[in-house]
Amino acid sequence: MSKQNRRDFLKTASLAALGIGLLGCDNNGPFIGIGGSERMKLSWTPYELKLAHPFGVSSSTRTTTPDVLVKISYGGETGYGEAATPPYLGQSTKSVEAFLQKVDLGRFADPFCLEDIMAYVNQLSPGDSAAKAAVDIALHDLVGKLIGQPWHRLWGYDPAKAPSTTFTIGIDTPEVVREKTLECCNRFNILKVKLGRDNDKEMIEAVRSVTDLPLAVDVNQGWSERFLALDMIYWLKEQGVVMVEQPLPVSRVYDTAWLSERSPLPVFADESVQGVKDLMRIKGVFTGVNIKLMKCGGLREAHKMVDIARAMGMKVMLGCMTETSCGISAAAQLSPAVDFADLDGNLLITNDCFQGVEVEKGRLVLGDRPGIGIKPLSSL
Ligand code: MG
Repeated sequence: MSKQNRRDFLKTASLAALGIGLLGCDNNGPFIGIGGSERMKLSWTPYELKLAHPFGVSSSTRTTTPDVLVKISYGGETGYGEAATPPYLGQSTKSVEAFLQKVDLGRFADPFCLEDIMAYVNQLSPGDSAAKAAVDIALHDLVGKLIGQPWHRLWGYDPAKAPSTTFTIGIDTPEVVREKTLECCNRFNILKVKLGRDNDKEMIEAVRSVTDLPLAVDVNQGWSERFLALDMIYWLKEQGVVMVEQPLPVSRVYDTAWLSERSPLPVFADESVQGVKDLMRIKGVFTGVNIKLMKCGGLREAHKMVDIARAMGMKVMLGCMTETSCGISAAAQLSPAVDFADLDGNLLITNDCFQGVEVEKGRLVLGDRPGIGIKPLSSL
């Protein structure tokens, strides 16, 4: 069978299987998936992401982020994923590689049984969310390519509803903040400003000296006193800030609930929430939740989180780490369903190795490429 014919066959067979459940998912049963005795092949390579500018948050500043690129091949197609591991995530290239060595996708007949495969991957260890996300993203990319459709379409989202993405300004001196804001303010419709050290007002005033764009702020747990936090949020609202992310430390649950109840701006959880299970704990504590693939373990969990958070009456945003266009484009597939998107991690690095979701006039533009919508820029 020629490669093209084989692809057409795979596409047809896959669609048929999705519709009438022909394919076996039982990992103890016979291999009856398309491709006969073919197994999924998982491979990976470490890749250091280089930041265009040193990036400061409330607790640290860095210039690189360790990353691991993952490939899963099956049926003549390759799906790509990545595990981005900034230091605060508590994972590393070494831990990601150790986890990936445990993953045996040969137990499964084909990549379509995402629910069963990810349940198996998730039980391999209690943590390793970035490594799990890498496998999940690559599987989604692969399945989308075998079907021939992007995931935003498979989920039924209207790509025209994809929001603007924020662009992040890290903590720095007023001169550098002004310069960075000037560089980006004509390309975006909303900026995200990192706060939480001792120069919050100075940061906002530096941004405001060059632009009137709406601002999101991310405190990264940097405030400690709830009355001061509430005063600051009232001041931020007067400065055109539209939302506040993780104002108080994770441990300060009651103070955060007190603050959210009185805050004139929505208060989003980031560090306080990893996956679906954490959502239940923050009902009444936060107004919204920041969902990130590297925290929750991938698209499957993130998609569930969007639906559950909505059912709980919460606002939803999508965030990211420093990532290539692989992780960013994967998250962007969910973006038509959220209130805010903070998907700029690929725009902060100088060595992106994928082409994917584009930002036009500040808005995320989801293309028609199948899977998570990416193309590798070199042979990976
Ligand atoms: Mg955050």
